[in-house]
Amino acid sequence: VLKLPVGVSMYKHNSKLVSLTGDRPTGHLHLGHLVGSLRKRVEFQETYNQFIMIADTQGISSSLNPDLVAVNIKQIMTDYLSVGLVPEKNTFFVQSTIPSLCEITSYYLNLVTLSRLQRNPTIKQESAEKGYEESMPMGFLCHPISQAADITAFQTDVVPAGEDQKPLIEQSNEIVDKFCNLYGDGVIKRVEIIYGNTARLLGIDGQAKASKSLNNAIFLTDPPEVVKSKVYSMYTDPNHIRVSDPGQVEGNMVFHYLDAFYDNYAELEQLKADYRKGGLGDTSVKAILYQVLEEVLEPIRERRQNITNFVIDEILHLHWYKANSIASQTLSNIRSAIGIYSLNTN
Ligand code: ATP
Ligand code: MG
Repeated sequence: VLKLPVGVSMYKHNSKLVSLTGDRPTGHLHLGHLVGSLRKRVEFQETYNQFIMIADTQGISSSLNPDLVAVNIKQIMTDYLSVGLVPEKNTFFVQSTIPSLCEITSYYLNLVTLSRLQRNPTIKQESAEKGYEESMPMGFLCHPISQAADITAFQTDVVPAGEDQKPLIEQSNEIVDKFCNLYGDGVIKRVEIIYGNTARLLGIDGQAKASKSLNNAIFLTDPPEVVKSKVYSMYTDPNHIRVSDPGQVEGNMVFHYLDAFYDNYAELEQLKADYRKGGLGDTSVKAILYQVLEEVLEPIRERRQNITNFVIDEILHLHWYKANSIASQTLSNIRSAIGIYSLNTN
């Protein structure tokens, strides 16, 4: 089924700009991924040379269960294909299968200070969520560095991602600047983050972010009855007790999700006005949201039916060669720029 070149000795980037994103295989993808990143990736696959990485090495630093990671890789690949990402237009790969990334990371470790990592807002936030305090693993603390290795290894121009990734992109660019200062320009490059239409989708419980590990998300795999019960349990306005009470739209998850997914803007503005005035009950708005989400999720469920583990294995095998070639090439350039000793094999 797959029409991909095999047996090519060395892949070179064509003139297209490069897009790269990654997801930790810590569970199924959810609506936050869809609006924060996946929809942009579907758009970008048409014009960018797009790489999509399953960040298992990084996943191990947070979930610490390699058996689960293997299963989750299949799940995430299924999620990618089910939203309309196609193997002919993307390069899918698993982070741990590209050894150059670890070596690049080890050189970058010298370009970042401990205090800089400890001040990274994403690290601070995720560490608080995980309750690490003094027992933070180094692998977790250093993940902004390994992420810079991932980004730069593929000569990435853009990363379509959510707002939580901004500090990590800044960290990558700082590493690039430092590297260029020390070892010269033209080996690795700065990158730009591009947000989806919702830079941060909040949790159904009203928490700062819908996330796999906080289990406060609607997953792409949730069946209709689960979507329904999640929508009906959503955090709304606690002071909107009777239908006739005026309600608050801000901080109300039902409206936050409608903002992200409902494309009938005129109707949405009317709903907000009615809710604010009083007379529109939570149950009625939730029924609308449920319908809107079902329209988003139904085609995704349908595509999922045809994806087998065999197809996933085949894609990962075929795409590995290209990903590995490009990362090795960058590593080789980095080694030369730094002046790392290399054995003369002639
Ligand atoms: P974990 O809880 O394991 O960190 P996660 O749900 O945060 O999982 P990641 O794998 O960390 O998911 O993120 C993958 C990509 O999806 C990143 O680009 C991230 O910015 C984006 N993303 C994740 N959650 C959201 C969200 N709630 N809103 C917008 N973008 C999101
Ligand atoms: Mg995350």
